[in-house]
Amino acid sequence: MSAKEKLKQYIDKRNLNRSGEPSDSDGAGNGGNRFVIQKHDASNLHYDLRLEVDGVLKSWAVPKGPSTDPSERRLAIRTEDHPTEYANFEGVIPEDEYGGGTLLVWDTGEFKNLRAEKDEPLTMEESLDDGLLEVWLEGEKLQGGYAMKRTRKSQWLLIKMKDDAADARRNPVSTEPDSVLSGRSLADIMQEADKE
Ligand code: MN
Repeated sequence: MSAKEKLKQYIDKRNLNRSGEPSDSDGAGNGGNRFVIQKHDASNLHYDLRLEVDGVLKSWAVPKGPSTDPSERRLAIRTEDHPTEYANFEGVIPEDEYGGGTLLVWDTGEFKNLRAEKDEPLTMEESLDDGLLEVWLEGEKLQGGYAMKRTRKSQWLLIKMKDDAADARRNPVSTEPDSVLSGRSLADIMQEADKE
């Protein structure tokens, strides 16, 4: 199935108007190399890591969230591609819908494909097929190199590379829990949804 077909399947699966999520026709995508990490309080709290590749957001669910400690290996489950416009979404998806729960944008910024700069350069798509991504993040909370290694079909490991941004004592998931876009917490967003 092509990326476009997958995207259509995804959009068909959601009732976009009802949950107030952005649709693919908003045209808000900037066409860059954007990354976003959404904190998603669904049946289990997790962090959705999304990398913009060829006009879609390649996505992984990271149960424990990203670490700045190179000795930590965080499980990252590959999930379906999302439309780029989804990168700005914060709000509440009704419980009976796919992905139901509350989301906030925990971190966002630009990323760079480090494998494109190697002697045998690989695009992001090629790196995905190869099962190893190496990206440089320029986020508000996360910076520097991160590797993602596929260990099984949809199972990957997210690992901080050893660089100036590596810090075994920093724990941004717990010390910086709120949205980088709005400053809101998950509870703030839920309360606002209740008042509507
Ligand atoms: Mn999610």
